[in-house]
Amino acid sequence: MSNIPHKKERSKHSGIIKIILIYIIVGGLWIFFSDSIIPHFTNDIEILTYIATAKGLLFILVTAALLYFMINNYVNEIKHVEENFHESEKRYKELADSLPQMIFEIDKEGLIKFTNLASYKMFGYTLEEITEGFSVFKTIVPGDRERARRNMIQIMRGEKKDVEEYTALRKDGTTFPVIIFSNPITTNKITTGLRGIAIDITERKIMEDQLIRSKEKAEESDKLKSEFLAQMSHEIRTPLNVILSYNSFLKDELANYLDEDQKSSFISVETAGRRLIRTIDLILNMAELHAGKLEVRINDINLYDILIELTKEFEHSAKEKNLELSCSKSCDVMPVIKSDEYIVTEVFQNLIDNAVKYTLRGKIEVNIYNNEKNNYCVAIKDTGIGIADEYMDKIFLPFSQEDTGYSRKFDGNGLGLALVKKYLDLIDAEIMVDSKKGKGSNFIVCFN
Ligand code: ADP
Repeated sequence: MSNIPHKKERSKHSGIIKIILIYIIVGGLWIFFSDSIIPHFTNDIEILTYIATAKGLLFILVTAALLYFMINNYVNEIKHVEENFHESEKRYKELADSLPQMIFEIDKEGLIKFTNLASYKMFGYTLEEITEGFSVFKTIVPGDRERARRNMIQIMRGEKKDVEEYTALRKDGTTFPVIIFSNPITTNKITTGLRGIAIDITERKIMEDQLIRSKEKAEESDKLKSEFLAQMSHEIRTPLNVILSYNSFLKDELANYLDEDQKSSFISVETAGRRLIRTIDLILNMAELHAGKLEVRINDINLYDILIELTKEFEHSAKEKNLELSCSKSCDVMPVIKSDEYIVTEVFQNLIDNAVKYTLRGKIEVNIYNNEKNNYCVAIKDTGIGIADEYMDKIFLPFSQEDTGYSRKFDGNGLGLALVKKYLDLIDAEIMVDSKKGKGSNFIVCFN
């Protein structure tokens, strides 16, 4: 847009110079040749005077004709440039008017020099009202005007390029949020104002508010769910503990009067009760983690002691399935780490529980070793049913199980490994799984 008047200016000058040059050349040649040729025809002074007059008239006629053609040509050229200029100005204005956002040009005082149709609609002014001389600051709430003025000066100085958010003010006094992108207008290295675009962000703000409210709502219902779970778990666990205590009391009291079937009924009640308590514990732990209520307590803990204790705990269930369960350490010193004892115990309890549960024959080896970074790692390796490759990326998701539905052969609720992962994230430890369907699995936990 702005370079079109320059083109016109240049063509005007070159046209005038061309005409003057042609005039000088033609005039010079005419005078030189005519004056040197005419004396060859006659010496009569009177005739020579007539010829000189006729020559002068002819010169005027020829140069007038020449000038006419050249000036006409030049005027047509100027007309053509002007038409192009108006055409491109019209195109620029139509393009600006078709934009749904306000575009503007202002001078150093903030007076509008140019704006498009959208700005009238956006701010509720008429075309006549927003003419040259209308201050752009009238379209911003008074509280934002000083900041806008400061930003304008900084942008004109080239010190700032950022987008700024303001509260825009309509003619009727209503407001809406806008963001303004602007750049300095520079002519011959002198900054004369700003050119920019103002975008109405009302819808974006509404969506942001809705997102924040939905997030708060989701957090609130998550908290309620966790509190509900904690409450319900407590309500179930308390009577269940009473049932289990009386079951064990009755089993011991009546031991001499019970036949084998009756004894196994008591054992079934105990096993089912323990399973229910384990499930409730897992749900409770998950709820606690979700609610962010678990406090991590870091102390020096001995991994070997914890794992020896846990293998003892699972000895009985492993023996019942004829499985070998062993715990060893390949490191020279006692593996003492700084971590949370409760969390570490919960992690390995879940992993050893799974290893025993998903192994039908063979063995489970728990081993502590140092990895290449000299960090302590624990591998729980089993010769169990193994895990399919396709299931691997879902293994740590809550309630996910490789084998689902009523035909499922194993107990469980799919919470164990999800808990393990969340616990390990809390204590900055990592877990890796290596498994082959039908061959066995190796769960490795490394402490950083
Ligand atoms: P679950 O209560 O079902 O055991 P987990 O979250 O502990 O839930 O484990 C998720 C799933 O991962 C299990 O259902 C099982 O399919 C698979 N899995 C976990 N540990 C082993 C393992 N040692 N061997 C084979 N599969 C395993």
